[in-house]
Amino acid sequence: MIDILLSESFLSLLAINAIAAIGMNIVYASGQLNLGQAGFLAIGAYTVAVLDVELGWPLLPLLMAGAAVSAVVAVPIALGASRLRGIYLIMGTLAVGEIVRIAIGNIDEVGGLQGYFGQAPVSTGGIFGSLIAVLALAAFLMASRVGLQIRAVFDDEDAAAAAGVATRRIRVLAVVTSAATVGVAGGLLAKWLTFISPSDFGILKSFEIALYTLIGGVHSLLGALAGATFTSGVDKVLGSVERIDYIPTALHFLDDWRQVIYGSLVIVLIAMLPEGLVSRSAALRFQRPFRRLRRTLERRGRSAAAPLTPPPRDRGAVRLRLDRVGHRYGGVVALDGVTLEVRAGEILALIGANGAGKSTLIEVVSGRVASQQGAVTLDGERIDRLRPERRTRAGVARTFQSVRTFAHLTVEETLRLGAMAAARASRRTIDDVANLIGLGDRLDALPAELTLADQRRLEIGRALAGDPTLLMLDEPSVGMNDDEREELAGLIGEIRDRGIAVVLVDHNLDLALGLADRVAVLDFGTLLTVATPQDVVNDDRVRAAYMGVEDLAAGAEAVPE
Ligand code: ATP
Repeated sequence: MIDILLSESFLSLLAINAIAAIGMNIVYASGQLNLGQAGFLAIGAYTVAVLDVELGWPLLPLLMAGAAVSAVVAVPIALGASRLRGIYLIMGTLAVGEIVRIAIGNIDEVGGLQGYFGQAPVSTGGIFGSLIAVLALAAFLMASRVGLQIRAVFDDEDAAAAAGVATRRIRVLAVVTSAATVGVAGGLLAKWLTFISPSDFGILKSFEIALYTLIGGVHSLLGALAGATFTSGVDKVLGSVERIDYIPTALHFLDDWRQVIYGSLVIVLIAMLPEGLVSRSAALRFQRPFRRLRRTLERRGRSAAAPLTPPPRDRGAVRLRLDRVGHRYGGVVALDGVTLEVRAGEILALIGANGAGKSTLIEVVSGRVASQQGAVTLDGERIDRLRPERRTRAGVARTFQSVRTFAHLTVEETLRLGAMAAARASRRTIDDVANLIGLGDRLDALPAELTLADQRRLEIGRALAGDPTLLMLDEPSVGMNDDEREELAGLIGEIRDRGIAVVLVDHNLDLALGLADRVAVLDFGTLLTVATPQDVVNDDRVRAAYMGVEDLAAGAEAVPE
């Protein structure tokens, strides 16, 4: 059996499958399960086969042409797919794969259903050279800023947009890059088989390519290699690789049962290893020395500090202005004509009973919810028509009510992602923020290894790394004990002292009123008052709005004299 697995023809096929797996990894890493990859495999294969037969080009230009045609066809598909989620995306991509196969079957010039042949065979060296080149390019992509953004979109699209990622563009880019990569695999397959027909590119092929990633793991390219190797190996041992009867004599009894055994094996594997053969933490262990080296090199070549503190003269300047802002959810008025200013270097606590509209105000300013009425300006510029990621890059940062970290990004990667929103950011920005949030020695940790309080501080760090002018914190103290809350208060105070305008929403009035310079009180979507904490706790209207809420009394005790 071993000699079958080590045969040159099998290893060549394995290398081609590995390239397809890398392509699948790139697109699934952005959270899009593309089940139409056989279509791109076919486009690459037929492009290469026809150019080879008609023009006799050398391998490199052939493969580049296969990748290019596949990528061009992928653009409109990617634009459409970027609007689809979940089952609709899966069905849509599945349909695309089938449409390509059926279309090719109708083109007589490429042999229709009969198939196409005549292409010169490819050398084993050519196949392995291609694999190494594709792997190097993919590794470069996934280690780049774009790769980090792709992975952030996988974990949480909203939080990625809040970190300044143009999520739609990233999704399109991932589909197109993936199509180009799978196109290369298709081109090699065409030359390896020397005869191709539409039946080589059916739905089962798309499932097979998806399986490489699902079995291997999506969180590193090692997973793509492991998945392709495992799947192709099992496939070969069980005898399914078409055209050649690979079933070793000893396993011939499997014949009719091989699909059942194969399917069961896949189910067991996915159930036992939901993250695949190479999980994120396993990949991290492998990458740790490289990460350390990168950090050391970056620190040695430290660029000038990117100060998070604006010049002192900016303190007190109006950063955020809401002018008669309103928002309704259906019949519910969540915000009604709210006019408000937040200044550099101040903490504005936004309080109000449940449902008063506090979170909606953050959503409207950050752009996750479109404002329906009024104007929102940041530093004098209208921002209410900008997409969320553009607002982030303009200086609006926010955290979410329920903590939203990126499950598969380390502390360092999360801060690096956040820092991409800044006009200038350096290694020092990341170290500075990591120390500020108390995670300076946990740079390689994943969120699951952190306490909830650490995760909340990490989310604040992500927001802060983008060098914002405005930071909006939605219930940052939820789930924290007294010590952690006190630490958080210190952190928020420090952020204010750096000259950032802070909007703080927190049900813990102890924290909110104790920290605030000014307090805005919302009541059923309208702004009741904006005043000092002292005046707010003595205001009868506020007491009425908080009737029965004991927190206000507790908060009153926290107001500094
Ligand atoms: P809490 O303190 O409970 O978080 P809040 O002050 O943040 O409340 P919002 O969450 O902004 O208040 O809600 C304001 C009003 O809008 C509430 O009546 C709420 O039920 C409603 N609301 C909020 N989000 C939605 C939504 N997505 N769809 C419909 N109604 C919504």
